[in-house]
Parts: sequence; structure tokens; C-alpha cells
Amino acid sequence: MAWRCSGSTNSELISKMAQNGILTSERILNAMSKVDRANYVHDKRAAYEDSPQRIGYGATISAPHMHAYAVEHLLSHLKDGAKVLDVGSGSGYLVAVLHHLVASNKQGGKVVGIEHINELVDWSIQNLKKDGLEEALATKQIEVFAGDGRQGYASGGPYDAIHVGAAAPTIPDALVEQLASPGRMFIPVGTQTQHIYHVDKDENGKVAKKEIMGVSYVPLTDLEKQRNAPF
Ligand code: SAH
Repeated sequence: MAWRCSGSTNSELISKMAQNGILTSERILNAMSKVDRANYVHDKRAAYEDSPQRIGYGATISAPHMHAYAVEHLLSHLKDGAKVLDVGSGSGYLVAVLHHLVASNKQGGKVVGIEHINELVDWSIQNLKKDGLEEALATKQIEVFAGDGRQGYASGGPYDAIHVGAAAPTIPDALVEQLASPGRMFIPVGTQTQHIYHVDKDENGKVAKKEIMGVSYVPLTDLEKQRNAPF
């Protein structure tokens, strides 16, 4: 799937994802078109390849088709004005896409990124500024914090949607608590084998979990473990 979607420009990458049925929503297509992936990678020559790329500290920016899938799965909860949490926000790429989905009219709408590597937090903020989001950062429509994403960011919640960009051994309770009613979390779960789960909280606060598909993500882990990892 990956090679079919690679392009030589951002718009070619996005249109190939649409042609291949990965991007089915006009809203997501518009939001992803506003985010230039070249601002979120180290090797600009590979910016429009549909593959993950190393961003240092054992982390990768996810492949564009995985970001597209994640947003498609959360879309029903990404109304204009919604509050969103991105756990393991890494390069900041998805924070930007989510921002364009929920804050396009500048009426509310907030995206909080949480990432445990300080250097990645600083780099992602620079990336977001290069990508034209300086004002959104200044007005706090976008905030990126350094911290353990397994604890979420309670004071910014409850969140209409939570995206988790790294695989957790089990679903962290704190994240389920910080979901709004209704709200949806998209989270990869597992160690050797991993699956995406939807965690849905309904209007009455009832929680349901559903396995969606097999995936391969970097682990949602301890700061020290990641810093000492041999990759
Ligand atoms: N969507 C991001 C994904 C980055 S990879 C992007 O495309 O850029 C996953 C990220 O999760 C890494 O940056 C890693 O440092 C971070 N991470 C891993 N464990 C974490 C934890 N416990 N708390 C916060 N961030 C974590």
C-alpha cells in the first residue's frame, strides 16, 4: 500500500491517497493539504514518501497513510470546535492536521500534543511555526507539552477525540477518564503483536472497546527505556 501513495509533492501524495481509497473524506483531504510534510521531517527528499521516517530518539513520523487512517477513524468526533489530545505527538504533523479540522473557523477548537522527549517537543513547535501555525500556538489553539502521555493531560480535557501515536501494552485508564461523553480514542495496543482499538465513550459515559486492525507502532513507554533503546 505504502509505495502506491508516494508522491513528489505534498499534493501528489494526498491525491494518491485519495485515488487509492485511503482518504475518503473531503474534510480530511483539505486539512492534510494544508500541512506540508516537508516541515516535519529531517530528510526533505523523502518528505512525500508514504513511509515512516526516523525523527531521532527511537521515534518515527508515521507514514502518511497511517495518519490518514487515524483521522478517518476519529472524524465523526472531530467537529469544528472540538477538543483533541494527541499522545506521543512526535514531529507535530498530526497536531497540525487535527488543528485544521477542529479550529478552521477560529471558534474554539483546541489540540493538545503530549510528548515525553523534550527535544521533540521543541522541534515540533519549530515545525508547526514553519508550517504557518505560529498564531495558533500564540492563541493556545495548539499546545504541546512535555510529559508522560500515559497520564494524558487532564486539565485540557475532557477530549472529544484522543489519538495515541505509540503502542501501549494496555489501554491507560487516565486516557479513558479524559475522554468526553461522547468521545473516541484511537489507540494501538500490544507489544509483540499490536492492534488498533477504538475506545468509545457514549453520552452516558459507558465505555466500549473494539479491535480494528493489526499495526506496527513504536512503543508507548518509559522515557528512560526509550532513551536507552538500541535504535
Ligand atoms: N504522530 C507522531 C508519532 C511519533 S512516534 C508523528 O508522526 O510524528 C510516537 C511518539 O511517541 C514518539 O515521539 C515517542 O517519543 C512518543 N512516546 C513514547 N512513549 C511516550 C510516553 N510515555 N509519553 C509521551 N510520549 C511518548
